[in-house]
Amino acid sequence: MSISYDQDNIFAKILRGELPCDKVLETDHSLAFRDIAPLAPDHVLVIPKGAYICFEHFSKEASVEEMADFVHSVGEVVRLMGIDPGSGGGGYRLISNAGMDGGQEVPHFHVHVVGGRRLGPILAATNA
Ligand code: AMP
Repeated sequence: MSISYDQDNIFAKILRGELPCDKVLETDHSLAFRDIAPLAPDHVLVIPKGAYICFEHFSKEASVEEMADFVHSVGEVVRLMGIDPGSGGGGYRLISNAGMDGGQEVPHFHVHVVGGRRLGPILAATNA
């Protein structure tokens, strides 16, 4: 059984212009905007404009052009945020949650770009 894309998810509504967002970057195939509940001083979400549920779905069905655009957009967001350690920034973390175990809240593929403070270990050590 495969799960179908929910056209009414929050990010689909943002892409259709039905909900506002604090836009950071827009390209032909991708959109980046600030997270509404930031977990760090810098917290931006990068999403493809296509209807993809999670990373695996995107990797299987997106065109090479969409994938290249998305990867470039994530890098461009890092540069715009000034957090690239190669350019003197403090560094950052990319996170993409998927499904129930991944704790995904919005079923439209997205990458969190998080930085602006020391982020600590990637996962809590409890309940391993
Ligand atoms: P995830 O758990 O990976 O699905 O994360 C979804 C993220 O979307 C959370 O960090 C939310 O704070 C964020 N979010 C939910 N609604 C909005 C919105 N309208 N604008 C910006 N970010 C949002």
